[in-house]
Amino acid sequence: MHRLVPRAEIASAVKRLAGEIAGDYRDKEPLLLGILKGSFVFLADLVRELDFPLEVEFIRLSSYGSGRRSSGHVRVVQGLRTSVRGRHVLVVEDIIDTGITVAFLLDYLRKKKPASVRLCALTDKPSRRQVPVKIDYLGFSVPDRFLVGYGLDCDEKYRNLPDIHVLED
Ligand code: 5GP
Ligand code: MG
Repeated sequence: MHRLVPRAEIASAVKRLAGEIAGDYRDKEPLLLGILKGSFVFLADLVRELDFPLEVEFIRLSSYGSGRRSSGHVRVVQGLRTSVRGRHVLVVEDIIDTGITVAFLLDYLRKKKPASVRLCALTDKPSRRQVPVKIDYLGFSVPDRFLVGYGLDCDEKYRNLPDIHVLED
């Protein structure tokens, strides 16, 4: 395992993203919608940099089984408990890989008639994309390696690491 993004670099990306988001959402009482489980650390840090009224909600999707391979098909494992109709929804994701998970979610949300839907992702692996996805707020691009830490897991382990690491094969 080797460190790819140290915590200080993550923290400055989170602050920069919060500044961009604040500029666009300050008067909109947005609903920040985290995709479980991977986004929980990022979302927790992000909301503490936002000093205006907002709400937090989570949705649990599954595309990966256990291990590292995407099944390529997405299910809602735990749905929304809050109505998104008329709300400004900002989806918060840890990493965009093939794009399949988030493309599914954006489509699912748009059917529920929100006022707007945008996407904030901490990391992006553009070389892996299968479905086009517009990332409105991006932390940084990462190479096509399997990452763990800062919420990202391998078989549920390593989510607690404060830095982002490449897990060697
Ligand atoms: P996509 O549908 O874009 O292929 O996959 C997105 C999801 O796959 C992410 O939410 C994340 O859960 C998982 N994922 C993709 N790449 C990685 C990675 O490098 N490490 C970990 N731990 N999860 C990943
Ligand atoms: Mg995820």
